[in-house]
Amino acid sequence: MANTHQTIMTNKRRTKIVATLGPATSSYEQIKGIIESGVNVCRLNFSHGKHEDVKVLVETIRKIDSELGLHTSLLADLQGPKIRVGEMENNGVMLETGATIKMTSTKCVGNAERIYISYLEMPRDVKPGEFVLMDDGKLQLQVVETNQVDEVILKVIHGGILSSNKGVNLPNTKISQPCLTEKDLKDLDFALSLNIDWIGLSFVRSARDIIELKHIISSQNKHARVVAKIEKPEAVAELNDIIKVTDAVMVARGDLGVEIPMQNVPLIQKEIIKKCIEHAKPVIIATQMMESMITNISPTRAEVTDVANAVMDGADAVMLSGETSVGKHPNEVIKAMAKIIDKIESDYDELYQRDKMPEKNQERFITDSICFNACRLSARVNANAIITMTHSGYTAFKISSQRPKAKIFVFSGNKKLLSMMSLVWGVETFYYDKMVSTDHTIADIKYILKKNGHVQEGDLIINTASMPIEDKGNTNMLKLSYIE
Ligand code: PEP
Repeated sequence: MANTHQTIMTNKRRTKIVATLGPATSSYEQIKGIIESGVNVCRLNFSHGKHEDVKVLVETIRKIDSELGLHTSLLADLQGPKIRVGEMENNGVMLETGATIKMTSTKCVGNAERIYISYLEMPRDVKPGEFVLMDDGKLQLQVVETNQVDEVILKVIHGGILSSNKGVNLPNTKISQPCLTEKDLKDLDFALSLNIDWIGLSFVRSARDIIELKHIISSQNKHARVVAKIEKPEAVAELNDIIKVTDAVMVARGDLGVEIPMQNVPLIQKEIIKKCIEHAKPVIIATQMMESMITNISPTRAEVTDVANAVMDGADAVMLSGETSVGKHPNEVIKAMAKIIDKIESDYDELYQRDKMPEKNQERFITDSICFNACRLSARVNANAIITMTHSGYTAFKISSQRPKAKIFVFSGNKKLLSMMSLVWGVETFYYDKMVSTDHTIADIKYILKKNGHVQEGDLIINTASMPIEDKGNTNMLKLSYIE
């Protein structure tokens, strides 16, 4: 027991909750409140906030974790090449339908004739006829002509009030800007210096964007994993390649629903979840899940159904943005989400047992076959838990991807893994660094789980392990036994 530390608490929900931190969730008490209400992953949105503030948040979360014996995951979400208009006169100007306006890359305070845009290459990248959408698509404009240097003339198709700093989407334009901007590179260095678990990359267009980010992370000898945010039509077209190289995916429905026709989002969401489960890559469903709770004390029926559907489809995590960062009721929104998840997980049996037989030619055929059969066996004998030892997290991802009804207890001597895996469906992590023999380890782990109330006498459990035990990373053994 000496080396196991006191990691005794876990969050029992299988589908994980990601909460974006912000002014409504910045103090020790506020963050502790949402973690106790069920948050598994805290998202730090690098589009807002200063580095000093992020550092304080990270220290606060780690303090709360050590007090509660939890491993809350941290996700640093890089802004990416987000395009914005500049400051507008009177903080908002009416753009009349049918009017013609000029967009310029020369700094100015915008009015109904001339608007500054933060994307300097826009005049070179756009072509006449392409659409320019502003403020989440509420305003629609069309390119009339460009001087290819610093000005673009646009016609307003659907007008409205344009306020300062609103986002701009160019759904038809081939953007020449790199996926990682100068700001992102600075934010990334900072996030890596804090050993953050997950780095979210916004506006991913191709698998190459992910490969580049991973290269930077590994060249700094860091182990952060990457979340590819799917919010561009190019990413939807390259989905298979992106899923292969990334560690996790986020369906970033806010920008996605502006960049592609909104009615296409539900089917794409379902397809992404399905493919991610097949490839054992965690998938997060994001944006507007409980939007009305930014102000209201309870969600709309449509929001309840949206969260429930994502859980039924098998998403690893459901995410909150404004609801927890600036909303009035961060604790209530987490509790409401947790209730929806609990109901589906207890009453919707189709959520479980997504068996996908490993292919014979797979690199880790033995390990994959053990994970596959551990889940099959757990269903066959109605086991209470599958327990895996992992150094890289591989078996945890694989077992989770089959969505077994049995609990998934993951033991690792690699401390960095513990909080990273809190994003993964069903996974509960424990620190364990003893290495005597496989038999001894299994007996010891069973003792720890029983002592901490995770299993009871008479429970059937399944252990996966490597034999000999020093053979880390080569899971080749399956054991079925009772808790005595
Ligand atoms: C989104 O667009 O849905 C999203 C999650 O990205 P962000 O909040 O960074 O705009």
